[in-house]
Parts: sequence; C-alpha cells; structure tokens
Amino acid sequence: MQVENVGMVTVLDLLGRGGQGEVYEVAADTGQRYALKWYTSWPGGLWEALEYLIERGSPSHHFLWPVGRAVSPGEHGFGYLMALRPPAYRGLAELVFGDRDDHSPLDVSFRSTVNLAFHLSRALLRLHALGLCYRDINFGNVFFRPDNGDVLVCDNDNVGIDGTPSTIAGTLQFMAPEVVRMLHRVGGTEPAWPSARTDRHSLAVAQFYILCGSDPLEGTKTRHGPFDADWELEHYGLRPLFVFEPDDDSNRPMSDVTTAYWQLYPSFVRTLFLRAFGPGLHDPDARVLESEWATAMLALRDTAARCASCSQTFFVDPAAPDRPCARCGAPTSGPLVMAIGRRRVVISPDQLLFTDHLGGDPDLGSPVGIVVPHPTEHHRVALRNLTETSWTATTEAGDVHDVPPGRAVETLPGLRIHFGPTTGVVER
Ligand SMILES: [Zn+2]
Repeated sequence: MQVENVGMVTVLDLLGRGGQGEVYEVAADTGQRYALKWYTSWPGGLWEALEYLIERGSPSHHFLWPVGRAVSPGEHGFGYLMALRPPAYRGLAELVFGDRDDHSPLDVSFRSTVNLAFHLSRALLRLHALGLCYRDINFGNVFFRPDNGDVLVCDNDNVGIDGTPSTIAGTLQFMAPEVVRMLHRVGGTEPAWPSARTDRHSLAVAQFYILCGSDPLEGTKTRHGPFDADWELEHYGLRPLFVFEPDDDSNRPMSDVTTAYWQLYPSFVRTLFLRAFGPGLHDPDARVLESEWATAMLALRDTAARCASCSQTFFVDPAAPDRPCARCGAPTSGPLVMAIGRRRVVISPDQLLFTDHLGGDPDLGSPVGIVVPHPTEHHRVALRNLTETSWTATTEAGDVHDVPPGRAVETLPGLRIHFGPTTGVVER
C-alpha cells in the first residue's frame, strides 16, 4: 500500500471496525508503526478534505492527526495514516461508565480528571485557532491517560473548516440544540452546521461528563420514554433543561453521585456550567470559551486539598475559603496558599507545582515541586524542589537560604521562594 509522505506500508493487524471502515496497524519500510483508517464508504469531498488537513498540520500534540493519504493498487477505496494510539490512553467512556471489560471504575485521581478537562479545552482552542472545527466530540474520540490526564483526540477526519456545510451532525448527547433542531427540520432559516460554536456546547457536555459523571441534560424529566425522535427533539433540541437549572428543579439528576460532585467543586466551576447550560443552550455567543475552561481547570487544580479528617480530596472555594469539607463535613480552616503571579495554589499534602506556575507552556506542564507533610507533625508542610536548580527562600524575618534540588522548605506564612523566572509568596 502506498502512502503520501511515508512511502510503502505493510498492513499488519485489524485494530477496529466502524461504520465507515476499518482501522489497521501498519508498518512503514523504516519499521515505524502507524494506524491506517481504510474507508469502505465515505462522503463526497473526503479525499480533498484529508489533503487539506494533512497540509495544514496538527494543531498540537494532542491530536492523532492524518499524516498521509493511502491508496492500494487495484483496490477501490482509500484511507489515511496517523500515529498509533499508545495503549496507556483510555477512552472517555471508560472514565464515565467504567472499564469496558468488567465495568469496574477506572482508578483516576482528581488531578488527572482536571488535567483531562484542561487538555481537552486546550486541544480545541488550538484547533479552533486554525479556523477548523471538530464537529463530533463524543465518548469515542477522546482518549486520556488515567495516570496524568494527558489527552489524545482521535478520528480527526471529522475536522473541517469552520463555517462550512458538513455531512457530520455529531452525537445526540453532545449536539448543540440548534443542530438537533436542524436535523428535525425545526427552527431557524439558517442551517446550523456543526461549527466551532457548536463544538463549545459539545465541550461543555464533555466537561460535565468528566467532572460530574453524567449527562447534563438527562434527569428526572427526561427519564420517561419512549426514547424516540420526538423525545430527542424535545429534550435536546426544543426544551433542553440543565439538571442543576436554578429556576427549574423539574429535571434534577437521577444519581446522587452527580449531585455530590457538583457540590464538591468551587463556585467558579459551577458558574461556568450554569452559563453553558443556561444562556449557552439558546445563545451560541453565551457559550463558555475553550480558554475559559482551560483557565478554570488550572485554577481548579490549584484549589485541590486533602481533608485532614477524611483524607479525601476536596476543593477550596476562593469565594468561600472556610466552607467545610464537602466529603465529611469537617471544618477546614482557610488553608495557606502560594501566590504566584495571578495563580493561587493551595498548600496541602501532595499538591504539585507545575512548570506552568513558573511561566512555562501549560500544554507541557510537568511537576517542579510537591507539598510534603512533616514526618511526625502533620499540621506542618513543606515544598520539595523537584527541579535540578536551586531555589532561594526568604523567610518573613528576612533570613535567606538555598533550597537545593530534592530538598524541602517549610511553607510558613510570609515565606518567599524565588524560583528563577517567578516568585511565590505564602499567604494565609
Ligand atoms: Zn473530609
């Protein structure tokens, strides 16, 4: 088989089969392995659309982007080559519905969950910045690493030029209401093709699944069938109703887990969802921007703390720093924070400082410091230097000392740490 930009490839194993065709593992003459999507049916214009995407190049390393189109002499059809998805990456559906084989829940920390929500926002931000749109965000094409939340967006043959007609409508739960209405031939005169603006609705739905574990529009009102076309149009097109809509409690979530998650997050996260699934359902311009999600997810990561009573993760709400632990109800005295630029990082055991706190690219964030408890006095904590260069710490009294790689400095109020490019100050 011949592939542009790559040369001859040999087909090895069948990896999967879908409505449009099959995915194979292939090997180039260099020995490099790739995934090949081979179409058995395809919409008109796909060959040219793939050429455009390949020339345009991947928006970021969070996409398994097409690298070349493939043809096979004597065979009808064509395909495209992309990088193989490493086995460490798991599907979004596994996070929400449990492991696909035994339905056991995936073991994912809050930090990974929040990183996943962050990276997905950033990936779409980079895609939209190129004038492209994804058009069909759903459980099947977002993959993530449970250990750190890194994201890979697959099936990028869905991607098109923003604002152009599309043969792809999306997946019901993730579809913007105006797309659902268009499919049912109800609504405005303008065709509502999937676009960057409808991607923003899909992103909000994905964020709600990631952070709260269920569908934002499925509750006590929508549970009654028949689940037919009329039901779809009513609950996803004409009168969608957020499960936490403040002014209408007729569609509250059916799972207490969703409510528990909702209450766990700080108010700045709930505010975004209330906009996305309030005004944003009806006004595409009111939807939450990818950059807003990304900023909020970094802030959410910064507010994570470990409860001294139940040892579970809770989130400090900057608008209500004294609120009790949402898990066990124990009082949580307003914790210490480290102010670094505009960020406020809660100082609590296991909290990490990342390269982006020190001015680095958040897409590539890696840990530079970790908060560690004192070995015997658990109310005392310190920040350990995970970098390879020394920091300089200045206590409130003005004493200056080095914090070499691997060493920790107790985080008492008033401490200033000079990280090099930035300075952090411990505040109460
Ligand atoms: Zn607690």
